[in-house]
Amino acid sequence: MEQSRIRLDRVTKRWDATTAVDSISFDVTPGQFVILLGPSGCGKSTTLRMIAGLEEASDGQIHIGERDVTRLPPGDRGLSMVFQSYALFPHLSVADNIVFGLRSRKVPKAEQRERLAKVAELVDLTDYLDRKPAQLSGGQRQRVALARSIISEHPICLMDEPLSNLDARLRSDMRREIKALQSRLNMTVIYVTHDQVEAMSMGDRVILMQHGRIVQDGTPDELYNQPASAFAASFIGSPAMNLLPLVKGDQGAVIDGEPTTTVAPLEAAGGQLGIRPEDIELRPASEPGVPATVLSEEYLGADTIAHVTVGTHTLRVRLSGKHALTGQACRLHWTAESAHLFGTDGLRRHDLTPTLLSSTHRSIPRPPVVGSFQH
Ligand code: ADP
Ligand code: MG
Repeated sequence: MEQSRIRLDRVTKRWDATTAVDSISFDVTPGQFVILLGPSGCGKSTTLRMIAGLEEASDGQIHIGERDVTRLPPGDRGLSMVFQSYALFPHLSVADNIVFGLRSRKVPKAEQRERLAKVAELVDLTDYLDRKPAQLSGGQRQRVALARSIISEHPICLMDEPLSNLDARLRSDMRREIKALQSRLNMTVIYVTHDQVEAMSMGDRVILMQHGRIVQDGTPDELYNQPASAFAASFIGSPAMNLLPLVKGDQGAVIDGEPTTTVAPLEAAGGQLGIRPEDIELRPASEPGVPATVLSEEYLGADTIAHVTVGTHTLRVRLSGKHALTGQACRLHWTAESAHLFGTDGLRRHDLTPTLLSSTHRSIPRPPVVGSFQH
């Protein structure tokens, strides 16, 4: 098992003036499903390609198991890779595409057939083995690419945005299929995506990158509940976390442009207050809270996203069910635990708690939770 441990130590990739990957270190334990997440151009693919050996690191070391593989060719690293483009040979049948790697490694014919039958079963392609890639759906082509990787029986699989060519419904099916295969075969997977839904739903662990660096490395739960920076906060969650600039008020920090309610300690002024759309309650205008007006709403079926103005800012509030609130004045309320504070440098302020709004509230009997209030 230890042979599938992956360790990056200050790995860097430079192209002339560009530093695509800037001194990245992380350690993947055997059997882990690790996501490299981040916006386009942040260095995810370059990192993966350096682990695969398709790109040479400018600096730093890569270990797989006990071996330093930094200068080894891809074929000697004991891993397989699945690409966004599938990279199938159009003139070969599904079967030949799947066994291509075994054939070039001169695996005996009988063993090839045996492994092909097993893998085809696993990814549900048994009835399609004689077809050409052009005769398959997008999802089936993706399965061929997966099968080709699984049949190699390497303990490590690297995947670069493998689902981005599929439509939304198929993507969700394939997310579950890949995850199930990974745990069934106990593979170590590093999976690159810019899609936070894939990251949250598939990863045991998510490494969030920005500008070639690691912003946060943790479980999906940690990234969601304790984002390390305003960037991490806004990248994960849909709709994104609301971020409001804070300025000095009389009693403490207030939301810029909305000086009537103190929402954080004075030391938070200059930074930002973050609140997720699902953590905000809309209450009648007669209740305590931050004064706001409902600008518009989007009905999504299971819930409604209300767009609410606070001073000069627009916030999104997620309400369960259907609501018609446009034009109404209201108060916003959230608990201290659900609010996040970020400093002027954008980093999470662990030392400060935005208690003031809820302490005002604590002295008053808790009103019923109001989503749709009619007066
Ligand atoms: P991601 O996969 O996160 O979208 P990449 O790793 O592909 O990002 O790219 C990271 C940065 O490196 C980008 O700025 C990109 O333009 C640059 N880059 C990638 N490949 C090359 C290359 N072969 N030559 C020069 N710059 C490159
Ligand atoms: Mg990429």
